[in-house]
Amino acid sequence: MIKSRLEQLISLSRGSTRKYVNDLRAGEWLDPSASRADQDRRLAALLQYAAQHVPYYRETLAQAGVCESPGRALVDRFAQIPLLEKAIVRARFDDLNSDDLSARTWEYDSTGGSTGEPVRLIHDRDYKDWQRALFIVGNDIACRRPDETKLYLWGSVRDLTGQESSRARLGRWMRNEVWLNSFRMTPDLMCSYVELINQSRPDHVIGYVESIVELARFIEKNDLAVHSPKTVATAAGSLLPHMREFIHQVFRAEVFDEYGSREVAGMATECARHEGLHVPLQAVAVEVLRDDGTATEPGETGRIVVTSLVNYAMPLIRYDIGDLGAWAEAPCSCGRAWPLLRSITGRVSDTFVTADGTLVAGQYFHYVFFLQDWVEKFQVVQESASEIRARIVRRKDVPRVSDAVTTGVEEIVRKVHLAMGDNCNVAFEFVDDIEPSASGKYRFTVSKVRDGP
Ligand SMILES: [Zn+2]
Repeated sequence: MIKSRLEQLISLSRGSTRKYVNDLRAGEWLDPSASRADQDRRLAALLQYAAQHVPYYRETLAQAGVCESPGRALVDRFAQIPLLEKAIVRARFDDLNSDDLSARTWEYDSTGGSTGEPVRLIHDRDYKDWQRALFIVGNDIACRRPDETKLYLWGSVRDLTGQESSRARLGRWMRNEVWLNSFRMTPDLMCSYVELINQSRPDHVIGYVESIVELARFIEKNDLAVHSPKTVATAAGSLLPHMREFIHQVFRAEVFDEYGSREVAGMATECARHEGLHVPLQAVAVEVLRDDGTATEPGETGRIVVTSLVNYAMPLIRYDIGDLGAWAEAPCSCGRAWPLLRSITGRVSDTFVTADGTLVAGQYFHYVFFLQDWVEKFQVVQESASEIRARIVRRKDVPRVSDAVTTGVEEIVRKVHLAMGDNCNVAFEFVDDIEPSASGKYRFTVSKVRDGP
């Protein structure tokens, strides 16, 4: 086979990415007990490191009696480590950084997650290498070969501000990728996206679930003809059965679900058997827990708690990510060692619509609240075509009248205007808490103008 641009890119890339791809590919096909043993070894190394180099864990692991016992015993006591809530990440951010940060190349990242709770994160170069490796192996699992073309319907702030770098463009070309911005989709843009899909005839379409559903709705409503790719993969939201069926009907393609987050890249990917989503044991430890902290049985829904095994710059150990899920009742028939998450729920966002019919993805509001450390929790409600209400739980240690709040509010308004238009009024409501909806699902964006996908 001719070497794809991506394979050339990998061969030019740093040795770590190549090594991590090999680690993942080996772990994927080991027998399940050997793959678990490999994960335990990686987990023990992380715990040992955290106990020595991360102030928060030096304290917490000692209290839990975990760091007294080296090696295997560390892993046995893993379940005694208290869960890491998002509020703790905000309050103890500095203490969660490793003490050797100055020797690492790192950058800030931020997420609003599924629950509208902004969290500041640190990712170093090694984490990025793992992220690339997970991306490559995730493509394999979801039947996307490196030499095949991929069209992404994904959020791009740079598209809104016209600041895309030539390096980013080159990277996309190398990976056989076309990117279309889904943060803000006007009817004209959606028409041009369909034309582009028909002209470029991509092998695969990948996007936010809400954006793919919106585009599919647009295609159906306007009775447009659309090229049928081999697969459509959705991420960044719950792919409910009726959405899967609808996407399958409109694109006449095999549909794959993916689960990832800013905190933990490539958390789970569906394979061609469509029996659930595989968790890459070499990169992440996932637990599904009941409210009393015990592990659920397969098929039983509980809280998803994750430990990234690959972020030493800011370890997140037993991190309550805010999603609900359940383990599959049987291993996947594909034979991979990696366990299967059956359903993941809780990641729900509504798409907003402006007076001229422009659709703004709910995911955009993660960017609106990016690195707003004074915000404990947010929910954005679209009251009408030109009225947004930002409900905010402020961090208790940040006064209402402070520079952080004043500049934060200005920044939020500016970013809302960027996507919703300058005529959109933004009202702020400071509240003590934001409750989940009657269904128990937390929605960080709510549209009163139109139903969600
Ligand atoms: Zn499988």
